[in-house]
Amino acid sequence: MQEILIVVTMDCERPRSETKDNASGPVSYADSARFIEGYRRLVAERGWPVTFFVHPEVMVAHPAIFQEAEQDGACLGLHVHPWKLKKSKWNAHLGGLTAVEQREILRYAGDMFAEGLGRWPLCFRPGTFSANDNTFAVLDELGFRGGSISAPERIDRDLCAVWTGAPRDPHRTHPAFRLIPGDMDFVNMPLSVDFSEMQEVNGRRFGRDLRPDYQSADYTAIARNIVEQVMGRDPAVPIVNLLTHNDNDFTRPSDRVRQNLLRAFDAIEQAGAERGLKIKGATIENVVDLVLAAGHQPRELETVGVIHGDREAEVTPHDAGSRKA
Ligand SMILES: [Zn+2]
Repeated sequence: MQEILIVVTMDCERPRSETKDNASGPVSYADSARFIEGYRRLVAERGWPVTFFVHPEVMVAHPAIFQEAEQDGACLGLHVHPWKLKKSKWNAHLGGLTAVEQREILRYAGDMFAEGLGRWPLCFRPGTFSANDNTFAVLDELGFRGGSISAPERIDRDLCAVWTGAPRDPHRTHPAFRLIPGDMDFVNMPLSVDFSEMQEVNGRRFGRDLRPDYQSADYTAIARNIVEQVMGRDPAVPIVNLLTHNDNDFTRPSDRVRQNLLRAFDAIEQAGAERGLKIKGATIENVVDLVLAAGHQPRELETVGVIHGDREAEVTPHDAGSRKA
């Protein structure tokens, strides 16, 4: 039976009282801890592990719940919005910064994460999937093994998150260009997106994913489309990667986001069953190991552009007729 891995993640944000009222995040660290615990229990009921991407101040605030989660199989990675960091000199999104600045931020945030957990993080997700061509090389250099860095086809220039044409499945990364696979050992695990219908809102473009935060969404259709598209691409490591934040009460049965999360889980299981697939829980580190084990397939250098295709399209009816003859 073919298998598809489900990678359930949560970005753990600083409380809004420490950042901005309209930013993602809980009201307090007490809520943060409770919501994280509630989420972990819901995922555990399915028999799956959780990958937490933790803003470093949150790791310092309540490390015990993360240490306990890790003992239960959770994977603990770093999450950073540069503008949310305690040291507030970087009023920017990660993708809007130079390699030197990104290195400085990741060292600062990694050190703070280690202050809480007792060791450096190995995995990373930037806030709002903001990254640029420097990001993979900087992460690789600093010893990170993997990241959930991209949201394929997202265009959000204000957040410095542009992923048009990006690889849609887990892959080794390229040191110079973020939109092609490469041969670095740093592995990127893209967010799973339903590409069948792209949304455009205020100049921002994105496809729907399986986050439970939507006001209304047809999770059955999104999950079915994602699973179908993944299997159609037939990648070396097929995954469904979804996310949420520590700002909803996953302990309260009437909470809309909690209910949506359970709908999303049911929808993934149903979509897998419909295609005869085994759904297996995994962390980002499991995905990194599998991508590296799959070996390295060197890309052939493309030396011919699409211009020939354009010429074909520009063939006049007369030319077409004479060619046929
Ligand atoms: Zn975030």
